[in-house]
Order: sequence, then structure tokens, then C-alpha cells
Amino acid sequence: MTDWKLDTKRLPNGAVLIVGAGLAGLYTALKLAPRPVYVLTSRRSKEGAASAWAQGGIAAALDPNDTAESHAADTIAAGDGLVDPDIAHILATEGPDRVRDLARLGVPFDRKEDGSLYLSLEAAHSMPRVARVKGDTAGREIINVMVKHARAADHITPLIGWRAESLLSDGHGGIAGALARQDDGSMLGIEADLTVLATGGVGGLFAVTTNPKTARGDSLGMAAVMGAQMRDMEFVQFHPTAIDIGRDPAPLATEALRGDGAILINNTSKRFMTNYHPDGELAPRDDVARAIFAEIAAGRKPMLDCRKAVGDHFPDHFPTVFDACMSANIDPRTAAIPVAPAVHYHMGGVATDGYGQTSLPGLLAVGECSATGLHGANRLASNSLLEAIVFGGRAAEKILESEVPERTADKIRSQPWLAMTPEVSQTLRNGMTRFCGVRRKAAGLNQLMGQIDGLIDQVGRANPLIASRMIVGSAIAREESRGGHFRDDHPDAANKAVSSYITYDMLD
Ligand SMILES: Cc1cc2nc3c(=O)[nH]c(=O)nc-3n(C[C@H](O)[C@H](O)[C@H](O)COP(=O)(O)OP(=O)(O)OC[C@H]3O[C@@H](n4cnc5c(N)ncnc54)[C@H](O)[C@@H]3O)c2cc1C
Repeated sequence: MTDWKLDTKRLPNGAVLIVGAGLAGLYTALKLAPRPVYVLTSRRSKEGAASAWAQGGIAAALDPNDTAESHAADTIAAGDGLVDPDIAHILATEGPDRVRDLARLGVPFDRKEDGSLYLSLEAAHSMPRVARVKGDTAGREIINVMVKHARAADHITPLIGWRAESLLSDGHGGIAGALARQDDGSMLGIEADLTVLATGGVGGLFAVTTNPKTARGDSLGMAAVMGAQMRDMEFVQFHPTAIDIGRDPAPLATEALRGDGAILINNTSKRFMTNYHPDGELAPRDDVARAIFAEIAAGRKPMLDCRKAVGDHFPDHFPTVFDACMSANIDPRTAAIPVAPAVHYHMGGVATDGYGQTSLPGLLAVGECSATGLHGANRLASNSLLEAIVFGGRAAEKILESEVPERTADKIRSQPWLAMTPEVSQTLRNGMTRFCGVRRKAAGLNQLMGQIDGLIDQVGRANPLIASRMIVGSAIAREESRGGHFRDDHPDAANKAVSSYITYDMLD
């Protein structure tokens, strides 16, 4: 690491620095009123946040016939033995009021003629529970509303175009802000009494992903080198039906299409999912992803056929998917859509309690970069937008009722993030997809670990390399198959399900 002499900005006493402006960061910021909040983000929310790309919607027990118990039970079942039941119950119980809060703030949820919410069914939910907005544009509409309120809020100061590179130590094991670099290369140390990480997922560490390019596990890298505990890092969810038209990131064909009856066929026009799982197209996401992976490996180009199930309704019901297909000259009303599995969601992250508190004083994490134990080995569809507002809201309310001690940075150091050249980045992404992808085994994972160590020797401890090292190290250690983690050399689940916790020094 390099010592830097740089400009430092000290935020007012008690002010909160939030890193990331997706749903988790913005909702937390709004709920912190009237405390001063500075939201630092590398890109504007509509471009850099996965939240704005969400298609399906937000899950909550909003139907009069649904219950929080049922939502929690589905969440626990999806997580394959590793969900913390208390956390699942918090999500399911507090979720409906948080969704109603979004509606109150102005999110135009789709409604039936009687005014009640239109709720759709997604895989592994025991009843229709996913609130949608204007078809498949939930994320965009929710973020528009959040940005509008954040702009109007007196207590929020946006710091747009700043990428956090490392955290500032307070010299006593705690965190006192972040070091950020602007697009023009200038750097600024931002000293804050409380820092909240909200940088989203890790898809950008892999060659094929549905995530925005900024989703490169920066929070995981930054927090890990400061000694923070990480949880369940090996669990990555692969979305089975990314649209395979050679784009980076890959556009998504939402699961709701299969919910509406779309089928998976291969290049011989044969429906294949029933050969792999009795639930066919609505089997759990990781089963469908592995089946598609197997069809690709066998050279039988898998495709999602929506012609009968959606047909002429495509432009109205699934406008985002329709536009993505048409931009590649595929008309999904008349042709099947080529698909491939892509990294979509990270179940693991910086370990936190139910209020976003990490193992380091002065540091919180919310949204996808955090790991409360909610998702276990696999995330239930549409639970992540809900997680962002339930646990973001709880973190904010806890901060408001607590005394926040003053923290100052003892020494400002920089991670050599800019050393991640496009070549280093591509080598990492190819390696992660090849050896730490849908199917994994010890030999490939160990080879990948050696490759990452080589890249660290070359360019230093850049955040994406550290985050990848933690994911791969955890994947090596988990000698079983569970949820999103499938090991060819250990294809069965162990008798006992145990969450994994790791700190960076454990890998040295
Ligand atoms: C295509 C797609 C569809 C999805 N559909 C659904 C769905 O229907 N329902 C559902 O519940 N979930 C869905 N998800 C998952 C869900 O969108 C995400 O898990 C969730 O939005 C994460 O929110 P977040 O606020 O934690 O992160 P994000 O929304 O990704 O926001 C992260 C923010 O951090 C910023 N950032 C990153 N690194 C830095 C840094 N170093 N410094 C400063 N800023 C930084 C980014 O620019 C961004 O502003 C989908 C995801 C994708 C990709």
C-alpha cells in the first residue's frame, strides 16, 4: 500500500457517509433524516445500480391470504439450510409496511381494478407475492422515486462521480470514512463518524453477468483488508436465462416469463428441462442454470421460447426484455431467445447483524454487499429489493437512536485500484467464470487461486482481486454442494449445514 498526502474533507460530527446509491444506499439515506448524510457514488443510480435494472419486482406478503410466516418459510427453504430464521422473519414481517412506504413515496405499483396490488408468482414462492411496476420496470421506477426524494432532501449531499477505493482506519480497529477517487484521478479522504457500505454485488468479477460494470465487490475488498468478517462468500447465484447475444453485461430474460409459461428448448426444438428436474422450467434457479450449462456444453444451444406463452403481449407485458431482444434483431413474438447462465446475485458479503452493523466499529453494510444470513445458500426471487429497504430502514433507525462517537482517521492509505488494467480485469473475469462458475472443483479452484495471487503480485491488492480471493477461498473450503455452490468433486450436501465466516488473514 502507498501512503498518500491528500486533501481530506471532514464531515460534520455525527454525519453519515454512505458508499453507493442503489436502493439500499438511497433508502437508508432517506430514512436517516434529519441527520446529515453524504452519498458517495461512482455512477448515477440509473446507470450504475443493479436496483434500477430489477425487472420482476419486490416480494412481500401483501395479499390478504398470504402470511409473513409463509414468506419466511419459502425464504428459509430456498436458502438450503443456511438461512438465519430470525432474519427471515424480520424480512417477512417488516416487509409489507416497507413496500407500502414505497407506494406512499410515490412508486406506481401495478394494481388491479379494485385498487389492490397486482401480485405475480415467481419460482419457489408458495403464492403470488411479487409486486410489479409497469410490467418489468420495477427497478427503474423505484429508483426514479428514490432519486427524486433524495434530491429534494435537505439532509442529503450527493457526491457523484467518486469511487471509494479504501476505508480509513481510526487507529483503534474502527473505520473513520473512506478514500475516494474522482473520474479525473483526483483523490479525497472523507472522514466520517459512521460509514455505510452499499455498493451492491460482484457480477463484474465474472466474464458473464447481468450486473452493472461497477458491481465488482469493492466493499468486500475494502472491508476485508481492514479485518472485517465476511459470511457465505462462496454462494453466488447464476441466473439461468441471461440473453445470449454477446453483450457485457448480458441483458436478462426475467424468470416471470417462465412463470407465465415460457419453455426452454434446444436447437433440436426439444423441451429439455423435464429431463433434468420434475418441476421443469420452474425448478430452483440453480437447477435450471446447471441444466442450461449442460445443454451448452453438449453443443445444443438452449433457447427460451415465449412464442405461445407471451406472444403478442410481449411489448406490453415485458417491455425491457422485448427491447433487448429487438436490439439484437430477435423478435421474441416469433423467435425463441438464445439464453445462457450469468452471475446475477451474491448471497454472501460483509457479515452484519440485523441492523447493518459489521464486525468493525463505525462500519455498517446494507443491501447486496452485506450478509445478514437472509439468503443462505440461495436467494428467493425478488427478496433482494425487499432486503435493501427492510435492513436499510432498520440500520437508519438504529443510527438515529444511538450515540455516534467521533472518529478521526489516523493515517490515509490507498489501494492501488487503478492498477486493474483491462487485461488484468479480463484475465480475472475469465478465470472466475471458468473455474468458480456454475460447476466447480478443487483442481480448478486451486488453479484460479494461484492465478489471482499472481495478479496481486503484478498489480497489488486491488479490491476486485481481494474480493475474488475471498470468494474462491470460501469455495475451496466448502467441500459439498449446496444452493448456488456446486462442486463436481463433492456433488452431495453435507449432513450438517454450516454458514462460512472468513477474514482476509485466514487465507494468508
Ligand atoms: C438485471 C437484474 C434484475 C434484477 N431483478 C430483481 C428483481 O426483480 N427483484 C429483486 O428483488 N432483485 C432483483 N435483482 C437484484 C437486485 O436488483 C439487487 O440485488 C439490489 O438492487 C441491490 O441493491 P443495492 O442497493 O445493494 O446495490 P445496487 O443497486 O447495485 O447499487 C450499488 C451502488 O454502489 C455504487 N458503487 C459500487 N462500487 C462503488 C464504489 N467503489 N464507490 C462508490 N460507489 C460504488 C454503484 O454505482 C451503485 O450506485 C436484479 C438484479 C439484476 C442485475
